[in-house]
Amino acid sequence: MKKRIPYVNEAVAERDFKYYIFDWDDNILHMPTKIRMEHLEENGEWKPVEVSTATFALVRTDNRHYRPPTAGGWAAAFANFADDPPPLGETGGSRIEDENNRFIRDTIDALERVEHGEIPGPSYNALKKTLREGRLFAIVTARGHSPRTIESAVRVFIKYALSDDERAEMMSSLRGYRRWIDGVADGDFGTDAEELDYYLGMCRYSAVTYKGFRARMAEDPIYRDKLASAPSAARPELAKEFAIRDFVEHVFHMLRRAGQLGRSVSIGFSDDDAGNVKSVSSFIKEELSKRFEGIKFVVYDTSDRTLDKGRKVCVSGQRNLPGF
Ligand SMILES: [Mg+2]
Repeated sequence: MKKRIPYVNEAVAERDFKYYIFDWDDNILHMPTKIRMEHLEENGEWKPVEVSTATFALVRTDNRHYRPPTAGGWAAAFANFADDPPPLGETGGSRIEDENNRFIRDTIDALERVEHGEIPGPSYNALKKTLREGRLFAIVTARGHSPRTIESAVRVFIKYALSDDERAEMMSSLRGYRRWIDGVADGDFGTDAEELDYYLGMCRYSAVTYKGFRARMAEDPIYRDKLASAPSAARPELAKEFAIRDFVEHVFHMLRRAGQLGRSVSIGFSDDDAGNVKSVSSFIKEELSKRFEGIKFVVYDTSDRTLDKGRKVCVSGQRNLPGF
């Protein structure tokens, strides 16, 4: 039986506040983007190879057999993970430009493979649900794209991964939040495209090797010092921390403005890289849960593909509840 979808889902006012931070590669989608490395062959020669993100996560610490290209180093290794062609700016740009962007092309490719039966990343359904429910989210990735490129990829995801009914459900949730939080009356809603723009504009897209992101991090008084004293291997993790703190602050300020801070709030983080999971878990324990006492943090480790649900919960912390 077909579920009737109301134009405005008033029930969103009864929901808990749950927000999610997603890593992209191998967490939402298995992307075809390859990392360029050199591999030590049996004959003692280093040969250029291209490895998948999943393989890279396993071999990145095996520096006896793998190394970044001798010409260009790590920047050359991750050349496929930057915007190509480069973004014109943070806003604007045309659809044609998006279609030429390698990240958008790779996203379409990965989504088409899912359409044809390939198993998506372990948090694929969690992102779908987040969108259907119109909840705020952040994409935090080690890639080097502009926020606008990642937002475009989310739009592609909405187009491919959600059915017509699921998109209608998403629009109904979005109008529900707009009515509840912003008091929008019937007849005053924007078009679907305008309401979707408003929603996606409230979400956050952080590619931590994007130059704009790195510049913002270098200007932050706390992270400028942390970066200066960190060994270079710890820098990607620090950047993820910075992006997570940014989203948590964004959510906190938004709730304060809406006068909703007394409600139960939880923020989930999912990543398939065990190293990120470990460092983010300790960041939550040591810093975030102390600063944001009313927020519950949940970390989902999606590195083990053999798990039934594709993920395991690592940290679930809320300091002002007994038991934590
Ligand atoms: Mg990943």
